[in-house]
Amino acid sequence: MSSADEKTYDVVVLGAGSTGENVADVVVRGGLSAVLVEEHLVGGECSYYACMPSKALLRGTEAIAEARAVKGAAAAVTGEQDVAATLERRDSFTSNWDDAGQVSWVEGAGIDLLRGTARLDGERTVVVTGPDGTETRLSARHAVAVCTGSAAAVPPVDGLPDVQPWTPREATSAKEAPRRLLVIGGGYVGCEMSFAWNALGSTVTLLQRGDRLLPGAEPQAGDAVLASLRDRGVDVRLDADVTAARRDGDEVVLTVGTEELRGDEVLVATGREARTTGIGVETVGLEPGEYLDVDDTLQVRGLPWLYGVGDVNGRRQLTHMGKYQARQAAAAIVARARGEEVAVEDWSPYTATADRAATPAVVFTDPQVASVGLTSAQAREAGVPHRVVEYPIGSVAGASLFADGYEGTAIAVVDTSREVLLGVTFVGPAVAELLQAATIAVVGEVPISRLWHAVPAYPTVNEIWLRLLETWRG
Ligand SMILES: Cc1cc2nc3c(=O)[nH]c(=O)nc-3n(C[C@H](O)[C@H](O)[C@H](O)COP(=O)(O)OP(=O)(O)OC[C@H]3O[C@@H](n4cnc5c(N)ncnc54)[C@H](O)[C@@H]3O)c2cc1C
Repeated sequence: MSSADEKTYDVVVLGAGSTGENVADVVVRGGLSAVLVEEHLVGGECSYYACMPSKALLRGTEAIAEARAVKGAAAAVTGEQDVAATLERRDSFTSNWDDAGQVSWVEGAGIDLLRGTARLDGERTVVVTGPDGTETRLSARHAVAVCTGSAAAVPPVDGLPDVQPWTPREATSAKEAPRRLLVIGGGYVGCEMSFAWNALGSTVTLLQRGDRLLPGAEPQAGDAVLASLRDRGVDVRLDADVTAARRDGDEVVLTVGTEELRGDEVLVATGREARTTGIGVETVGLEPGEYLDVDDTLQVRGLPWLYGVGDVNGRRQLTHMGKYQARQAAAAIVARARGEEVAVEDWSPYTATADRAATPAVVFTDPQVASVGLTSAQAREAGVPHRVVEYPIGSVAGASLFADGYEGTAIAVVDTSREVLLGVTFVGPAVAELLQAATIAVVGEVPISRLWHAVPAYPTVNEIWLRLLETWRG
């Protein structure tokens, strides 16, 4: 280390979200020194404004629904959900937006933490402006990892930025339910937040531009979530194009076709954009606002000392995928620091790397949607010869025990030339916990003939595997 405001580390990590924390942890375990720079909360979006608070908002409603679906147990559910206690529980999962716990983890892991806003300043150099305005210049011997994540994208709708819409941050951290909530966007965030706030007392209107909710999933998933939202009284409008927004006193007014919709808050859940603006990427020849273009070791193409990991590369914007990439990137950084060659695999439809063809994801609606790998549409687009096998989950004994009138669907996409699974989707109550078996089958490219020996225990919901195999065999 040269002076108080100039420091050198093996690895400099921008952003202490779940991705950045994991990059730093793994490189330190690999014998390198690392500094994490964070301008807001250590732990990032997932801990404070995304996964954890959103699932905490949803879990109470789900638990009640599970009890109500069992004759005999239902009688014990006599009251309404306690909204204040639900919000309190949510607050405890975010540690009341205090990152002290994560800071002590970082320190315990042997990682240096620097509070402030980081920006690149040419090759291997990062300048950090601290909360008091002082600047620290960091040099990286081996690598700079940009893990600055993504931010909510507000679509170019006339007047929308001026109504100060909720982004997912406000939707996951709100202290009370708005009386009327308008939600723009029917992807997983829009659907989850519609379920959550509807159950916590808001009158929710969900506006989706296309003709289906969860457009990236198998169509059966969007259809089931749509039916369930409507059943709960959420006003879901498909093919709804919001063309203008304005405030009228305390109300938000959205123009949708010829109609005006009024609400107390509007949530914009229409996707994400890369947090690469204001971080100096132009000083190394990159375009601000663009996702970082990386290879399979998460190295930015053309800049061997720079890595783009997690949401910031736009590959798979999920916490577990950011952490997966963090392990890949950090392993590559450590190996390269030792002078080792690191092979970069090229993508092919048959390479079931998690990023490309085996990403697991769960939408925590009711029903849940749990999926891994390719959907039937993606298999079609990839030109892979395949057959789709579908079976109603409710007809297996384990499911009927789990909930009276269990409704759900399992969809498997099978590669017909190699007889392995390309992807699996489960739609139904509590299917999230079925997903890891599917992930192992897809990643491991387990031959269908071998899956017959993975016998599901009776009577569990996993029996659906046997039914899928029987349907495949015909
Ligand atoms: C409502 C919602 C629910 C979600 N639910 C799930 C879920 O259930 N499961 C799941 O897997 N994923 C979920 N996600 C996605 C998940 O939150 C993200 O994929 C994940 O948080 C990305 O992690 P990251 O570390 O790449 O980025 P982030 O968590 O965004 O971390 C980036 C960090 O960098 C910091 N930073 C940015 N710029 C600078 C700078 N210039 N200097 C210093 N620090 C900087 C930020 O303050 C932040 O702490 C959800 C997302 C949303 C919006």
